[in-house]
Amino acid sequence: MMPSGDNMPLNMPCEPQILAGWVVDGQGGPARQNVLISIAGGRIRRLEVLPANCRPAGAFHDLSQSTLMPVLIDAHVHLALSGTRDPELRRCQLSAGAEETYAVIARHLKTCAQSGILALRDGGDREGRVLAYQKAAQPQERASIYVSATCWAWHAPGRYGRMIGRSPGNGLDLGQALPSMPEGLGHLKIIQSGLNSLNRFGCQGPAQFRLDELLAAVAYARMHRLPVMVHANGEEAVAQAIAAGCDSIEHGYFMGAANLARLAESRIAWVPTVIPMQALAQDPYLSSHQRDTALRTRDHQLNQIRQAHQLGVAIVLGTDAGSVGVDHAKAVFEEMGLLGQAGLSLEAVVRCATSRAASLLGLPNGHVIAEGQPASFIAIRRRPAEVLRGIEKIDGVCIRGFWQAMQP
Ligand SMILES: [Zn+2]
Repeated sequence: MMPSGDNMPLNMPCEPQILAGWVVDGQGGPARQNVLISIAGGRIRRLEVLPANCRPAGAFHDLSQSTLMPVLIDAHVHLALSGTRDPELRRCQLSAGAEETYAVIARHLKTCAQSGILALRDGGDREGRVLAYQKAAQPQERASIYVSATCWAWHAPGRYGRMIGRSPGNGLDLGQALPSMPEGLGHLKIIQSGLNSLNRFGCQGPAQFRLDELLAAVAYARMHRLPVMVHANGEEAVAQAIAAGCDSIEHGYFMGAANLARLAESRIAWVPTVIPMQALAQDPYLSSHQRDTALRTRDHQLNQIRQAHQLGVAIVLGTDAGSVGVDHAKAVFEEMGLLGQAGLSLEAVVRCATSRAASLLGLPNGHVIAEGQPASFIAIRRRPAEVLRGIEKIDGVCIRGFWQAMQP
C-alpha cells in the first residue's frame, strides 16, 4: 500500500526494496520493466531489472502496476500569482500586500510539493516578493522545495512586462540599472519581446532592448554568476537573446527555423510553455476569434517543438503557472501531455522535466533514478503508454527515502 489519506503518518520511511512496474529514469533512456530498487540511507543502492513476472526474494513494496519517474521540475512559474481566470481576482492579486502574497506563495509551494514537483524557477513578480519570501522563510520550509528566485523581470520603458517587471528608470540603460537589484537572486530575467497577439496570428512586434544592452546585461550576470532567462517571442527577439549568450529562451513562439538551428548548435535551453496558449484557447472571457488564434498559435508551437526535438535542442519543461488559466502543479502534467502531443516520447518528456531542467537550474542532484542518487521519485499507477494521457493524480511521492503523506 502506498501512503495516502489522513491515517498515514507524515514522511513514512520507504521499504528497503521496491518492485517498480516500470522505471523512466529521467535521462532519456527507454523505460525499464519489472525493476527492483534497493534503497539504503535515503539513496538508491541498486537497480536491477528482473525477468518478466519474477518477484524478488524477501519483503518488498509492490508497485508493479505503477510507473516511477524522478521528482519533477517546473522551470518557469510565477509563484506570486495564481492561475485564476477571474479578471477581478487577477487585478486584486497584483495589488495585494506582502503578507497576503506570502500566503499565496506558500500555498503554491505546498501544492507543488504534494505533486512531486520539487524544484522551481520563478519568472519574477513586480515587487520581488518571491525573493523576499525565500529570504524570510524558515530553513525547513526552504529545504522541502528548491526555488530559484529572481526579483522582478526587466522590460524596456513603455513596453510589455509591467505586471511582473520594472524598466530601467532615470534614462539608464539595462546594464546600468542592474546593480539596483537586491542580493540573493538565483537568476536574472529579461523580457525581450511582447506577448503573442490573439487578434493577428503570428504577428511579431519589435524587440525590447538593443543588442548592446543585452550583451551588457549578460556580462553583468556572468560576473555575478547568475544564469539569464529571456522572455522572447518572434524571430528578432529570439535571435538577439541567442546572440547575447543567454541561458534559456522562454516561450520562443514564432522563433522560426533559423533560431531553432542556432539553439541546437548552442548550449542554450528552450522552455516553450505551451499550456498558457492552450488555456487561452479555452478562455470564456475571449472572443471566438481570439480563442481560435490561440489554438492556431498552440499548434504552431507544437510544430516548432517537434522540429526542435528532431534537431536536438535542449527542451526544458516550464508552464508559466500563474498565467491566466494555468494552475501551479496541475500545469506540469498538462504541459507533459502537450510535449507528448508534439511527438516526444514519455522518456523524452520526463527528461525535459527532470535532468535537463536540473542542469538549467544548476542543481547538484540530477533528478534521475540511478544508483547512488537520492531515492526521490514519484509513482503513477499507470503503464508508461498511458502516463501522458492526462495525469490527474500522483499516487506516491518519495523524497530521499521517505514517502510523503498525500492529500486524501
Ligand atoms: Zn512567465
